Amino acid sequence: MIKIIITSIFFFVRACAFVHAQIFYAYGCKDLEKVSLTFDDGPCESTKKILKILKNHNVKATFFILGIRVKNNSNITKAIYSDGHEIANHTYRHINFYNYKNIDKTTRIEEELLQGEVIIKNTTGTPPFLVRFPYGYAKADAINIAKKHGYYIINWSFGCDWKQMTAEEMHEKYKKALKKGAIFLMHDLPKNEKILSFLSSFICYIKGSGYEIVTVSELLNLKQQH
Ligand SMILES: [Zn+2]
Repeated sequence: MIKIIITSIFFFVRACAFVHAQIFYAYGCKDLEKVSLTFDDGPCESTKKILKILKNHNVKATFFILGIRVKNNSNITKAIYSDGHEIANHTYRHINFYNYKNIDKTTRIEEELLQGEVIIKNTTGTPPFLVRFPYGYAKADAINIAKKHGYYIINWSFGCDWKQMTAEEMHEKYKKALKKGAIFLMHDLPKNEKILSFLSSFICYIKGSGYEIVTVSELLNLKQQH
């Protein structure tokens, strides 16, 4: 009997440790009708238009922002924050670490993460704890650095706003990708403004299908660790 109890405790502790050890996510719980909208690469002038649409629909999104753009757009960054959206780290310079071959790669990944963090913290007063490395880079070196600094790495379940197609085709693809726990990737950049033409109707479609739109940390039930 004692052996069974000890074995059960051992597996319970191991299971808990596993749950807390997860730091990489690309979708949320597949049992709840909740999804997240995420916007990468801002802030810039296009962000203002997105904020207006989100406000009209009373929807909160998650913005993975670039440190280098915060520098010249601190007011837009503050507006994202004061509108109640979640601000997450997309690193400082948007380096593609899949192609980065220099010997200092690990150091650069860490610097990019921390420089992005500092400027977000100095601008909004709140340090981010979610990171999406550019191009969804999530190899072991990035995972270890994220872990070291108390971050969760967030990728996406669907996104196509950088591909060649009409706004109508794009809208259809996003609608088809709607499912429980979806994390949608979009960009708030002038070259990706096609999404602006359907963002409002996409939000209506999501809500009309019975889904709630929440921030990534709410979708995944994640809390700040650092
Ligand atoms: Zn990006």
